[in-house]
Amino acid sequence: MEHALQHRERVGVSDFVLLEDFRSEEAFIDNLRKRFRENIIYTYIGNVLISVNPYKNLPIYTEEKTKQYYRKAFFEAPPHVFAIADNAYRSLVYEHREQCILISGESGSGKTEASKKVLEYIAARTNHLRNVENVKDKLLQTNPLLEAFGNAKTNRNDNSSRFGKYMDVQFNYEGGPEGGHILNYLLEKSRVVSQMTGERNFHVFYQLLAGGDETLMNRLKLQGRPEAYKYTTDVAVQSSQKNTDADQFRVVREAMKVIEIGESEQLAMFEIVASVLHLGNVKFVQNDKGYAEILSHDANSGNVAELLKVDTLKLREALTSRTIDARGDVVNTPLDQEQAQFARDALAKAIYDKLFSWLVLRINSSLTPKEKDARSSVIGILDIYGFEIFPKNSFEQFCINFCNEKLQQLFIELTLKQEQEEYLREGIVWEPVEYFNNIIICDLIEARHKGIIAILDDECLRPGDATDASFLEKLTQSLDGHRHYKSHRKADSKTQKLMGRDEFCLVHYAGEVTYNVSTFLEKNNDLLFRDIQSLMGTSGNAVVHDCFKECNLRSKKRPETAITQFKNSLNELIKILSSKEPSYIRCIKPNDFKAPMQFDDKLVSHQVKYLGLMENLRVRRAGFAYRRTYETFLERYKCLSSETWPNYRGAARDGVQKLVEALNYEREDYRMGNTKIFIRFPKTLFETEDAYQI
Ligand code: ATP
Ligand code: MG
Repeated sequence: MEHALQHRERVGVSDFVLLEDFRSEEAFIDNLRKRFRENIIYTYIGNVLISVNPYKNLPIYTEEKTKQYYRKAFFEAPPHVFAIADNAYRSLVYEHREQCILISGESGSGKTEASKKVLEYIAARTNHLRNVENVKDKLLQTNPLLEAFGNAKTNRNDNSSRFGKYMDVQFNYEGGPEGGHILNYLLEKSRVVSQMTGERNFHVFYQLLAGGDETLMNRLKLQGRPEAYKYTTDVAVQSSQKNTDADQFRVVREAMKVIEIGESEQLAMFEIVASVLHLGNVKFVQNDKGYAEILSHDANSGNVAELLKVDTLKLREALTSRTIDARGDVVNTPLDQEQAQFARDALAKAIYDKLFSWLVLRINSSLTPKEKDARSSVIGILDIYGFEIFPKNSFEQFCINFCNEKLQQLFIELTLKQEQEEYLREGIVWEPVEYFNNIIICDLIEARHKGIIAILDDECLRPGDATDASFLEKLTQSLDGHRHYKSHRKADSKTQKLMGRDEFCLVHYAGEVTYNVSTFLEKNNDLLFRDIQSLMGTSGNAVVHDCFKECNLRSKKRPETAITQFKNSLNELIKILSSKEPSYIRCIKPNDFKAPMQFDDKLVSHQVKYLGLMENLRVRRAGFAYRRTYETFLERYKCLSSETWPNYRGAARDGVQKLVEALNYEREDYRMGNTKIFIRFPKTLFETEDAYQI
């Protein structure tokens, strides 16, 4: 038998609070590396789970392993995503506290896989309950379906989620899943029309081309080759990939069936997917007046019109001209080639984006319980893009990093503040821990009138000569001097050297990020010419018609800008999450090569910083790692002392006092609160647990 100490040397500690040198990042990474080498990918910081992507299949999700976590407290089984799931489930069912599980980490770190494991665990855990099979099946099948439309191969992840997702799983009073609801955030729609070298468009395009049967392909006027379509040419698809795509297409069709998306709705969806492919191939020629024109025999625009069931001539007209309402005078102006291409791409992006949102709504209607139990409650699961710092950062990174600031703010609010408040409530004296509150950065971004978003919207709504450059100018005018904003002009020489004239830098909680303002205005305005919009409103394709009929074209009020919509939906999300009890899963990517057994210290160290893990650990260690109500504690350990076993009739608090004295707890190691015992180090509890098991 291996000695306990040797064991710890080899596999490290299962909870970072047990690290001797908890302030050292080196010790932290050492511990992660040790465990990773032993194929132990999970470690706790208190009740936060750290997960390192193994990039290989480990035998840790078997039925047997799953059962190990049924009704177990954290310290009773090795760290695992199942423990997080079980804990949340038990708090929901037995203590009636609504739960949310927040999963974060950078692209490829394993967020989506973790969220699926949570769902699978819940499905297994509720196996004994009747009448929920159908719902569970639907919940599980939402994944392949949403991934087909919202995931893509990127250089960082072969199955990268290109949208944010929050999913509520609803439970009935017995604790059986009875339904669900999904909120989706900011699909990366620019991917529909162009991808970086080595990356692909959304999976569904390739799946349809590889897996669609002849009848379907004829109906959609498609040939089975991604190379034939401009929007999918960028990556030469290998033949092995083609098989996977074809297989996956069957999985997707099956999922659609389970979700009860009917044949005609499925066809309408694929007609849209196909029309996007055809749209990409629409070519414009320059006529003698210098304007864009589509040749009358152009088959692509004909196909689009036929699939979307709109008038061909009107479609061509809408793609090559635009109607402007100038003080009551309606004028039709022709577009030049570049403008026409822009209009075409905008249409492709818009219909795909709307299709995706429609799909989420459609899934939701299928997941809505027929009869809602008034006592039902939810576990929410958030799988959303992590903090991004690229060599070049644009509007998208700005949105994503803003989202991460908000989530960090929530983390602080929920975890740190609640922690301190509990000590207060329990009447325990405790030195407050200093921590960095990032609310100052959230304000810098979203404050009314003077935040970055307000300034951007002002520029977007300002008629006349607003440009990305004038936006940057305004930013610098109003924000220079802010501790978390750096302009090119005022930056210190080191930062300035790394920054262009069209860039600004934000000091995020996770580090400095330089943003390039080019295309900020265009992306925020997110314009689709009116003519195209009203034409789509006439579409005979039920889904397109549904999606565009609501655009109120007559309304003089401008639609909300992209960033304001995002900000509002984010604030909604924060409100939902604030009302729940959170669990955290922080995912780490061990290397950039999607390779097993490779642990890149530097890469991991960056993520430990971005995820704020050292700070998290510091705060955790400053307080009491574990706490239990007197009743729970006594119930479990009463057999360890003759004072409390076999018959004890006094108050629970007194019983616990007797118990810890019998167990020789040091005075410094615990505190007796008003309703709970607080234990400083889990080690103390581990020892008690060991005694209990012997
Ligand atoms: P993105 O932000 O790009 O969506 P992500 O954090 O959701 O990234 P995943 O798609 O969950 O990342 O994981 C990337 C890949 O890593 C998976 O496709 C899988 O191959 C592998 N992987 C992740 N977690 C595990 C795990 N627990 N066991 C085995 N492989 C895993
Ligand atoms: Mg993902």
